[in-house]
Amino acid sequence: CGVFGIFGHENAAELTYFALIALQHRGQESAGIATVDGMKLYHQKGMGLVAEAIPTSSMERLSKGHAGVGHVRYSTTGVSQLLNAQPLVFNFIRGNLALAHNGNLVNAHQLRQFLERRGAIFQSTSDTEVVAHLIARADSNDVKESIKEALSIVKGAYAFVILSDDKLYAMRDANGLRPMVLGKVGDAYCVSSESCAFDTIGAEFIRDIEPGEMVVISKDGIESTRFAGQAKKALCTFEYIYFARPDSDIDGYNVHHVRKDFGRLLYQEHPVEADVVIGVPDSSISSAIGYAEESGIPYEIGLIKNRYIGRTFIQPSQELRARGVRLKLNAVRKIVEGKRVVLIDDSIVRGTTSGRIVQMLREAGAVSVHVRIASPPVTHSCFYGIDTSAKEELIASRKSVEEIREYIGADSLAYLSEGNMMRAFGIESSDHGHCNACFNGKYPTEIYEDLSKMILD
Ligand code: 5GP
Ligand code: SF4
Ligand code: MG
Repeated sequence: CGVFGIFGHENAAELTYFALIALQHRGQESAGIATVDGMKLYHQKGMGLVAEAIPTSSMERLSKGHAGVGHVRYSTTGVSQLLNAQPLVFNFIRGNLALAHNGNLVNAHQLRQFLERRGAIFQSTSDTEVVAHLIARADSNDVKESIKEALSIVKGAYAFVILSDDKLYAMRDANGLRPMVLGKVGDAYCVSSESCAFDTIGAEFIRDIEPGEMVVISKDGIESTRFAGQAKKALCTFEYIYFARPDSDIDGYNVHHVRKDFGRLLYQEHPVEADVVIGVPDSSISSAIGYAEESGIPYEIGLIKNRYIGRTFIQPSQELRARGVRLKLNAVRKIVEGKRVVLIDDSIVRGTTSGRIVQMLREAGAVSVHVRIASPPVTHSCFYGIDTSAKEELIASRKSVEEIREYIGADSLAYLSEGNMMRAFGIESSDHGHCNACFNGKYPTEIYEDLSKMILD
């Protein structure tokens, strides 16, 4: 998911809208905006892309607010429905609140059971609603203290933005698993999952929000406090590998640069003689360029992605599938025909995509296809809000590299090692500030294996 918040700007709704468009890659399932004018809260949520979920007709109403929060949603499995769309909005005795969350709370299921036994009635299956209930039940009359109290109980990964009638609160989890940055546009402060949204709305990047930090923005300016004790910093490496936009900077590293370094190190670790290097659009392009630069093998555009496929396109019939209808990707025959091809992909999760692409390249005339993956084998599930599937579905949890090579039909297959992946950040191992749990099983928080499938986000 992606979150954004802004306080004290006459165009708060419009800027939130454009920021969400910039964060669209972080979730395409639903989107929403809530704004406040000091007294009233306005909101609009819908299914689909930002432009579908928030019709221009709703902007007039939203524009009454001088502060706003927005969300784009990507759920990890199953339940994709309007009730789970965010921001979640509530009217408490203490006023209005709108909550938007990126991440996954690992003890949400337990907390929900606890709350339901005490009479709480939930409207959604989203883990975010658990936090709303905890805020409502908090002892303090002060919103800030209530939020702190609620977040002291939840565990897991989050970038949270919460809008009240007169303040914007932004919190990052104690391990810093999910990213969040602080910026300023005119006199107004804003927060975002990624810095690319700041560029889009003309905001100046100020800094990353720290793990365990709470930033409170109001008409009095900005205030920073800590709500969580020191925890081991564990920023999600998958943000760099796949999830974030290449033009974003996270914790001081530009995503495109990091990916390019992954590609360079991948060549050093697993060189191969070939005629052309190609990447799977879009997330592998930077690494493919890095691999090409390091090897001296020319980089080419060998695969074209159709950018206009929605989530609900008509599934081709078995007959059309058999005839090889390629809606999403197609090979550029002139580039790969008669060539030894290095195919760079950012990751292999289930193994289905790579197999199809290798076959497609062969059908387009590639003499050989050497697959190089710009991250290590994904062997463990993520419990922190990135969809890397159930463990049984992860091909590398069941098969060796050689077995995967055979399965995807490549001439050779090699992965970037974890050590080299960390070297791209100038660090020796993930113990120095990264979560690599989906590669090494070292989860930075407690995990609850019985985590209900219905609790998502
Ligand atoms: P698979 O091996 O599961 O068929 O597909 C791997 C591809 O999916 C990679 O090329 C990568 O770009 C993409 N991918 C990696 N992580 C995710 C994710 O969390 N969600 C989705 N939808 N795709 C992902
Ligand atoms: Fe990111 Fe993997 Fe850690 Fe999940 S388990 S937060 S995907 S590094
Ligand atoms: Mg990909």
